[in-house]
Amino acid sequence: CGIVGILGTGREAAPVLLDALKRLEYRGYDSAGIATVDHGRLDRRRAPGKLTALAAELEAAPLSGPSGIGHTRWATHGAATMTNAHPHAASRVAVVHNGIIENFRELRARLASEGHSFVTQTDTETIVHLCQDMMDRGLGPVEAASETLRQLEGAFALAFLFEGEDDLIVAARRGSPLAIGWGEGEMFVGSDALALAPMTTRITYLEEGDWAVVTRAGAEIHDEAGRIANRPVQVVSPSS
Ligand code: GLU
Repeated sequence: CGIVGILGTGREAAPVLLDALKRLEYRGYDSAGIATVDHGRLDRRRAPGKLTALAAELEAAPLSGPSGIGHTRWATHGAATMTNAHPHAASRVAVVHNGIIENFRELRARLASEGHSFVTQTDTETIVHLCQDMMDRGLGPVEAASETLRQLEGAFALAFLFEGEDDLIVAARRGSPLAIGWGEGEMFVGSDALALAPMTTRITYLEEGDWAVVTRAGAEIHDEAGRIANRPVQVVSPSS
């Protein structure tokens, strides 16, 4: 299971994301998916089974746009179906998630009673509706994501992508590793440096509880308490 993200320039994100997911295959997975944002418009493709199935979906209906997120899933809640595959999405936000949201039943029950309709069996879908709910209440994407993170219990790595935002990924690490990659006018997110190896060797590992606002200009990292955190940029060997 793994996560990748790209805020790219001058190329389509989907093929880059698919390639990065291949380098995360060694971790094991049962389904995969990619979401991109193009001129503000979110779209996604998903498939159960091998990455070749996702590649076929993308071939039949390509995703455009320089920015996106990708995921290989190892199902914990809900069978390995297309519907349960990530990215999960509500109208204005898409999320990829590794790990488990322990309090998803309570959150889901509350959100459902407030009119959110759930279409999957996953714990992850709760995250998108929670974030969407905050945005419906008037919060901007970054504030909505940080408030969402505050309400989640469990161990996870997450990346959020937003409708209307071609230059924004919010990434979070709690119990599951996540790295930020620094490119030339491009930024990346990945479960490990290997996933990002062809794109960049300059890596910042998020520490436990960190969350990051990533734009093409860089990453603003916050610690668990919300304070700005300074994390080192490491140069990793391209073969590692
Ligand atoms: N708990 C989530 C699910 O079952 C994420 C699983 C994973 O780590 O890939 O969809």
